[in-house]
Amino acid sequence: MSEGLVTVSYIVATILFIKSLGGLSNPESSRQGNYFGIAGMAIAILATVLGPKITGGGAIATVLIAMAIGGSVGVYAAIKVKMTEMPELVALMHSLVGLAAVLVGYANFIDPTSTLTGVEKTIHEVEIYIGVLIGAITFSGSVIAFGKLSGKISGKPVLLPARHWLNLGLLVLAILFGKWFLGQAETGGGTFPLLLMTALALAFGVHMVMAIGGADMPVVVSMLNSYSGWAASATGFMLSNDLLIVTGALVGSSGAILSYIMCRAMNRNFISVIAGGFGTEGGAPVAGGQQPEGEVQPISAEETAELLREASGVVIVPGYGMAVAQAQHTVYEITKLLRDKGINVRFAIHPVAGRMPGHMNVLLAEARVPYDIVLEMDEINEDFPETDVAMVIGANDIVNPGAQEDPNSPIAGMPVLEVWKAKASIVMKRSMASGYAGVDNPLFYKDNNRMLFGDAKKMLDEVLKHLQG
Ligand code: NDP
Repeated sequence: MSEGLVTVSYIVATILFIKSLGGLSNPESSRQGNYFGIAGMAIAILATVLGPKITGGGAIATVLIAMAIGGSVGVYAAIKVKMTEMPELVALMHSLVGLAAVLVGYANFIDPTSTLTGVEKTIHEVEIYIGVLIGAITFSGSVIAFGKLSGKISGKPVLLPARHWLNLGLLVLAILFGKWFLGQAETGGGTFPLLLMTALALAFGVHMVMAIGGADMPVVVSMLNSYSGWAASATGFMLSNDLLIVTGALVGSSGAILSYIMCRAMNRNFISVIAGGFGTEGGAPVAGGQQPEGEVQPISAEETAELLREASGVVIVPGYGMAVAQAQHTVYEITKLLRDKGINVRFAIHPVAGRMPGHMNVLLAEARVPYDIVLEMDEINEDFPETDVAMVIGANDIVNPGAQEDPNSPIAGMPVLEVWKAKASIVMKRSMASGYAGVDNPLFYKDNNRMLFGDAKKMLDEVLKHLQG
């Protein structure tokens, strides 16, 4: 394939990626967005493999073998992964993008065939340094995020004393090592400062994510998504591949926008989250907030069906537990049945419900719940006082009134769905265990709240049976 045809293919792929991002911004067009992305990536891979940079049978065979190995691992992971494990998988993938940037950086650095001289050589060395820096931070940060999301590492923030000074110190050192690296690289050296910076960047990634507490993890996930984009972009610069630069920048900027949206939705300051330990004072983790008052009042599936049947307005709040129980299809069966009886049933979606952005929207779309009854937090929060029954399915942190009532709560200030303002609320979960943020929930003890204990799918099946009966 000629250079010109490769450029045209890259432009077409870029347009498809932009259309893909546009499609993914709305649940109704997201399927189409995915198809655009797949088409763009197929064109990009074909143009790169068949392009003039990969010459000779040996090189093509190496690329094809690498693609077969990578593709098989990808297909296996996609088939094996459970929906609730998707966030961990995404974090792991981000780490691979970071690792790739580091490896490409080192490969470029030791490339014996490089003929660059003068300013061009210096620019290339700056690209290598920045690429390895971003890549190493993305790699180690994503590995820690994977550990936290999969429960292998505690979700509690690990706050070192003087952590902000530590971060600042690491940043200053990275700049100084950069100067040292460029100075040595001029005379053919530079390996030692590059290795030192890599170790520093790896430590920075670990420290940054370890310092972030449970409920702030969504921001970290989207932030690492953004970093992985910039790491890919840096790799594009090192390899002089325009498409990788553009694609990386698209991922980097859309991840940054998502992080900003997440921060706004959670009433968090972006810089505070990045610097770690938001909502904690004096370098030590805060206590878990006030002890809730009141009594827990259980309810049976039959009584729940009764309450639902008598309601005229019902709001369903799904959370991570609905994903664990895979209860979305039964939820929709119940929704259809109630709507057929003339009851106004709607869904309230918190921006950080579940374990990844849009988690609940994906599950509800899979169960074919109509989009027009699925509302964002801002659209529905004011309606709770006029709601007869708020049915919380496997959600916890996102309906915790402590975020508004207890200034000492680790989730203080985070906007939540105000289900306790409904005439009655029912929380479906298996026990009194806390949610991801590890905070007790005063909602469970409110007078107008009832607890339906058990696996969400099992309990909803029973509710459905009673409703049908
Ligand atoms: P939570 O983690 O707060 O609560 C989920 C609840 O579901 C648990 O308390 C659990 O209680 C219950 N549960 C688990 N399995 C089942 C089951 N099979 N049947 C019934 N209930 C079950 O989830 P939320 O969705 O309320 O909040 C999301 C949390 O995750 C927030 O803190 C958010 O910051 C964080 N997060 C979100 C990310 C995102 O991008 N959306 C990413 C990373 C973290 P029990 O064990 O008693 O059943």
